[in-house]
Amino acid sequence: MDCLFCRIIAGEIPASKVYEDDRIFAFLDIQPGAPTHILLVPKRHLAGLAEATAPDAELLGALQLKAAELARTLHLEDGYRIVLNVGPDAGQSVFHLHLHLLGGRPMAWPPG
Ligand code: 5GP
Ligand code: ZN
Repeated sequence: MDCLFCRIIAGEIPASKVYEDDRIFAFLDIQPGAPTHILLVPKRHLAGLAEATAPDAELLGALQLKAAELARTLHLEDGYRIVLNVGPDAGQSVFHLHLHLLGGRPMAWPPG
């Protein structure tokens, strides 16, 4: 298996786990871009949003709802940002779909 996030999910590479259920895994980003920076990934390998299809819709919704739940738990009531980078121009560097949950500081718009 040569996917970094599949290896993290499998426990082959250590990560600071924040949440896990039967289909979602969440862990701290190794290079945080904000005081809170969590990555939420589906356990089943999916390269990215560009590769997602209609049967993935429920899973994509569940990832977003879990991000909102974690944000509530972490008291990010002043706001947070969910980022899903798609492809090289957006800076996607790991080709296993992941949501970034960023919070704990004001966010600029538009993003860089
Ligand atoms: P992307 O740029 O693909 O949207 O996001 C990939 C994210 O994965 C980056 O924010 C990067 O810091 C994070 N990352 C890369 N390698 C590792 C790792 O080995 N462990 C953890 N926890 N995060 C990683
Ligand atoms: Zn993977």
